[in-house]
Amino acid sequence: MLPTLAAALALVSPAWPQTRAEISGYTETSTYAETMAFMNQLVKMGAPIQLRTIGQSPEGRPIPLAIMAHPMVENAAQARRQGKLVVYLQANIHAGEVEGKEATLMIMRRISQQVRAGRPNLLNHMVILVNPIYNADGNEKFASQSVNRPGQDGPERVGTRANAQGFDLNRDCIKAASPEMRAALDSVYVPWDPDVTLDLHTTNGTRHGYELTYAPPTLPTMPEALLAYNRDVLMPGVRAQLKADRGWELFDYGNAVTRNNQMVWETFGYEARYVTNYVALRRSIGILSEAISFHNFRDRTVATDGFVTSCLERVARDRALIQRLRRPAPLPAEMGVRFNLAVGRTEPVLLEKLAPGQARPATGRPAAIEAITMPVYDRFTTVRTARVPAAYYLPGRYLSAIRLMRRHGLTVEPITSPINQTVETFAISEFRQAARPFQGVRLITLEGTFARQTRTIPAGWVRVPVTPETGHLAFHLLEPEGTDGLVTWGFLGEPGQGTEFPVLKAMP
Ligand SMILES: [Zn+2]
Repeated sequence: MLPTLAAALALVSPAWPQTRAEISGYTETSTYAETMAFMNQLVKMGAPIQLRTIGQSPEGRPIPLAIMAHPMVENAAQARRQGKLVVYLQANIHAGEVEGKEATLMIMRRISQQVRAGRPNLLNHMVILVNPIYNADGNEKFASQSVNRPGQDGPERVGTRANAQGFDLNRDCIKAASPEMRAALDSVYVPWDPDVTLDLHTTNGTRHGYELTYAPPTLPTMPEALLAYNRDVLMPGVRAQLKADRGWELFDYGNAVTRNNQMVWETFGYEARYVTNYVALRRSIGILSEAISFHNFRDRTVATDGFVTSCLERVARDRALIQRLRRPAPLPAEMGVRFNLAVGRTEPVLLEKLAPGQARPATGRPAAIEAITMPVYDRFTTVRTARVPAAYYLPGRYLSAIRLMRRHGLTVEPITSPINQTVETFAISEFRQAARPFQGVRLITLEGTFARQTRTIPAGWVRVPVTPETGHLAFHLLEPEGTDGLVTWGFLGEPGQGTEFPVLKAMP
């Protein structure tokens, strides 16, 4: 039989690459080398991609960043001069959760094909930064899913959740103890200031009837109107669009748990150690994507591709609004330091319905679904606030704290001659430290009282201005009552009960 024209052409001309998932009929996921080869092949095909190395993983693997732009841009300023959004897609942060990696490769290929064919495409409206294999070392620690990812419906061999240091990279955004997060700070978050960040996962929690679940930031420390758009417009909009386009049911990420003797739907934590909340502190739209681990690998990849693509199409349409909502504006007089989980709405939730005596299956889609109306805890409300200062002052000897703040893109100015300043001090009445380490650190929580005083700030201290651009982040890192900032993670030592918090707040 004669080969088809397409097959004949493929023999003589370079071909668009296929993912390992596609080649294997969704029985295998891409290795690091295959992921890199796929992107290199796109570049060889003339795709609108510039491939950069932004760091080295703990085991020495180059950490990739693909810049997709048409025309190509070198930096954020060029992108913004063209009126384009900057969007960051990050996949495989937990390397057992592999479909984000496959889906982002397929999305890169599809956009490249559209550009090649001269068809309208997302790059008309945005520059897309892609790291399809954020946890590269974890990806290579292939083992049976029964070891690395129990209860997931294929592929049989996947990588580990942790990176090679044993860190959960989705808890590392504040302390940045991993080369992966440092690379993301140095080469993505700070220089590109993405307008939108998508972090791609797979959940293995409650068995429900959704094709995929998602979350906006749950931390309220971001501009109110931006959070309102992210949580109340963008996410429900994408949910409705995918229902209309593909018949998919989507819902807020969460698990069914019992609270006060009632079944409720509950989201993840408020801390900015999570990617989706970290980017909120940067006044950026955050989207958590969670494919469903009991769906098969192909379905999870299709769902992730469809969800990401729908999000990209929606933010492309809303780009002028997003750019306006992200414009730096004066900070509120107070912002939150303590938060409680809160109900956003009460709504029917689609859960697996088991027949009497039926055991809950470990994997595969539920045979039957029932809608149970319950409170949806999809957000946190502020239960304690602190005043927002004009600046923070701290002694120059806190070198690791200063280095970390600079890495997060904060301005840290040395004080070269003494300054008289009205400040708020914080007297520590209670010092609590976790008995066991979390991610290598025994977390610290402080209680105490503020007092207004005039102080002389000596030379050798540093000043961290609280500006509309970076004030949310500075506040989160430096407030004494925070539960996820510099003191929490041990960067300010162990300020004991009865002592003064080493950071002073400059009050207007
Ligand atoms: Zn995950």
